Amino acid sequence: MKQGVFLERDGILNTVRVERQHQVTPLTLEDFKINQEAIPLIKKLKAAGLVLIATTNQPGLSRGYQSRRELDRMHELLRKTFSLDDILVCPHDETDRCPCRKPKPGLLIEAGFKWHLDLDHSFVVSDKWQDAEAARIAGCTSLLLKSHWVGTVHRDFVLTSLSAIVEKILRLTAANKAVEV
Ligand SMILES: [Zn+2]
Repeated sequence: MKQGVFLERDGILNTVRVERQHQVTPLTLEDFKINQEAIPLIKKLKAAGLVLIATTNQPGLSRGYQSRRELDRMHELLRKTFSLDDILVCPHDETDRCPCRKPKPGLLIEAGFKWHLDLDHSFVVSDKWQDAEAARIAGCTSLLLKSHWVGTVHRDFVLTSLSAIVEKILRLTAANKAVEV
């Protein structure tokens, strides 16, 4: 089985505007800005043989303010830029009570099944507590980037830069391989 890295989209792969302590999700390709710093870092994870999957809650799809076509254009750019294997989206609103809206683990479990991932040896990278909670339920290791949104739920690591997170994952992956040999 393969190991995966689940990457939160907003705040990790693309930059976001912050207004009154809230991240403002970009809704058009024009507003969608790739986090340039992340490009060489995510490349290292790919080179280590990890399956790269972006996960994102996009309630604007069911609430009607995010067009599917525009989202597809943003995600095509994202997939190409980072050589992502997959992008999984929860299109639901909180009131839909779906199993996939993070902090629920549905997207991780779906990807695990689809990509034959060993979730116990997979990683979740985010700047938000919801991803750490989904990681905990799915059995993944969570690595949070220090931010206003890390909350107080269980997480395995909080680090101050994406480069520190990537180095940590590479060390943990190498340690796993050593144990298996
Ligand atoms: Zn959902």
